[in-house]
Amino acid sequence: MSEQLNETLHFAKNWQQQLAAVFSNIDDLCRYLHLSRNDLPVSMAAAKSFPLRVPLSFAACMQKGDPHDPLLRQVLPVKEELLAFPGFSNDPVGDLPSATLTGVLHKYHGRVLFINTGSCAINCRYCFRRSFPYADLQLSKQAENDGIRYIEENPDISEVILSGGDPLLLSDARFAKLLQQLSTIKHLKRIRIHSRLPIVLPARITDEFISALTESTKPIVLIVHCNHANEINPRVIAACQRLRRNGITLFNQSVLLQGVNDNVAALCELSEQLFSNGVIPYYLHLLDKATGTGHFDVSEAAAIALIKQVQAALPGYLVPKLVKEQAGAVSKLTVF
Ligand SMILES: *Cc1c(COP(=O)(O)O)cnc(C)c1O
Ligand code: SF4
Repeated sequence: MSEQLNETLHFAKNWQQQLAAVFSNIDDLCRYLHLSRNDLPVSMAAAKSFPLRVPLSFAACMQKGDPHDPLLRQVLPVKEELLAFPGFSNDPVGDLPSATLTGVLHKYHGRVLFINTGSCAINCRYCFRRSFPYADLQLSKQAENDGIRYIEENPDISEVILSGGDPLLLSDARFAKLLQQLSTIKHLKRIRIHSRLPIVLPARITDEFISALTESTKPIVLIVHCNHANEINPRVIAACQRLRRNGITLFNQSVLLQGVNDNVAALCELSEQLFSNGVIPYYLHLLDKATGTGHFDVSEAAAIALIKQVQAALPGYLVPKLVKEQAGAVSKLTVF
């Protein structure tokens, strides 16, 4: 990204151009944020194993000059990632071997995860995906068809969950085709999409994308991933409002992250901001214990204490369910 960064010009570009111009160099990001690399616990070794990747639309929500910015903390490769924490591993949720062939991960009753791409627009340091060897997997047409056949042949499946990576990185044409194919499956009741793009790259919500959603004969549920109220800027708000106006049900899931959102004020403000923009809080996840993420961990006891305080402060429908993933369980486990 150039030094004379012209944000107006940048945001006039289409989403693919914005995606091609993400920050991938720590010094560029530091310069943009008016920070010196010496102010930050940066680790090049951490960046080498899982690269920096930050869209400008996300970086633009960071507070310039603040080395402790909660959004910066989510994306900056730091030395703590190299520390070994007990109980942290490369496949904390036991998904690694299951999802490679057809992209279908059928773990819970009635719902399948359908992973069409392993790529993301942003690299979140706390992500369990960081240690997946096939992080850049793009499902072949053949594998995608096999996945669709699996769903067709299993009448127990009532909901397909498009996940990733980020499924909104598929082109509009490919996404529309996929929705069309899924819409023809009679026993499917809903299509659910999990994406961080409406938050980190809201330009992705194009007219073509909205048309693909509204042309589907199945109700569409979109779960955005937002961890902090500062991520919600006017472009994000406009994208969420367009989705809502077009009949898409919007929920949010967050991860509870030390130094990002592990305080009552941050969690309450996030719920308030989400609701003001048509998004209902759904889950607050405890961290998946992936190698390199231990410094983000909040203990279960501390998490419960926090969510109880949130519950005391907000209407019940603005309190997300505190959940964790447990290998072998029949659902996410509700912690509170
Ligand atoms: C989280 C998850 C789901 C969805 O669970 P909900 O509780 O319905 O949100 C489905 N399949 C897999 C494999 C998951 O990890
Ligand atoms: S899968 Fe989600 S949390 Fe992980 S890097 Fe992609 S957007 Fe971030």
